[in-house]
Amino acid sequence: MKKWGLLIAVLGLLAVACAATASAQDIKAWWTTSGFLGPVDVKGLIPSAPSRMTTLPVSMWIIDHPKGLIVFDTGNNVAISDGKCDTYWPKGFCQNFKPSQKRDDVIDRQLQKLGYSAEQVKFVITSHAHLDHIGNIKLFPKATHVMQRRELYQAWWPEKFQRASGVFILSDYDTTRDFDFLELDGDYDLFGDGSVVVLDTPGHTMGHQSLKLRLKQTGTVIITGDAIWMQENLDGHVPGINYNTAETMRSIEKLKRIRDLESGQIFMSHDEVSYNKGMHDSPYR
Ligand SMILES: [Zn+2]
Repeated sequence: MKKWGLLIAVLGLLAVACAATASAQDIKAWWTTSGFLGPVDVKGLIPSAPSRMTTLPVSMWIIDHPKGLIVFDTGNNVAISDGKCDTYWPKGFCQNFKPSQKRDDVIDRQLQKLGYSAEQVKFVITSHAHLDHIGNIKLFPKATHVMQRRELYQAWWPEKFQRASGVFILSDYDTTRDFDFLELDGDYDLFGDGSVVVLDTPGHTMGHQSLKLRLKQTGTVIITGDAIWMQENLDGHVPGINYNTAETMRSIEKLKRIRDLESGQIFMSHDEVSYNKGMHDSPYR
């Protein structure tokens, strides 16, 4: 009987150990881009920043999680690929942002390059409903789409001052009303184990959200979306496109605080320098 008792105790300890490591599962996170925008002068986007020309990566992430394949942001709509911007985006946008997206840069092809298919994607997490982030959610009709409830309101009926800028393209999502939306009202731990946590970061848009991953080797990864475009925003320069500027600045502080407390790394959506320094041929693990 003593032996059985010991065995049960050992098994119990093993179970506790397994539970403790459950959050550091073998997750693979690829950072890719749906082509680039620009070159543009940073000053045009961030008025207080010094002038500097840059191109903007259109960041997207493919996350292979034991509980399902995840995509974070789906880039520019496939229709603007290969120089066809004028046929889909407003003319002014094409002229100002000069997207370089090729058909092979689009999220479905990016998945294929890694041996996945769009049909395999279980969760599409969209930071916000601007044209360079929500562009291809229609390629994922069977996935669960994770968005903040307020962002959905705004996507369908943007405030006049936001709509005038042309950044919401209704046809990116006009046939998605019956998709399975997981509508959030704040932060959300997707699998309940801290491995994939949606962070409520409003300001750039009404219901903008970012993403935090906990990876085995890399540790805390903070994928900002447009809560932080580039280095100048980290340095304290206020972004020039906001639904609510005070909320924007609070969201930047929130992400920096998490980075500092968890010794994490911040990955910005449109920062050319850090994109070029980042890993793209192999995943963050
Ligand atoms: Zn953007």
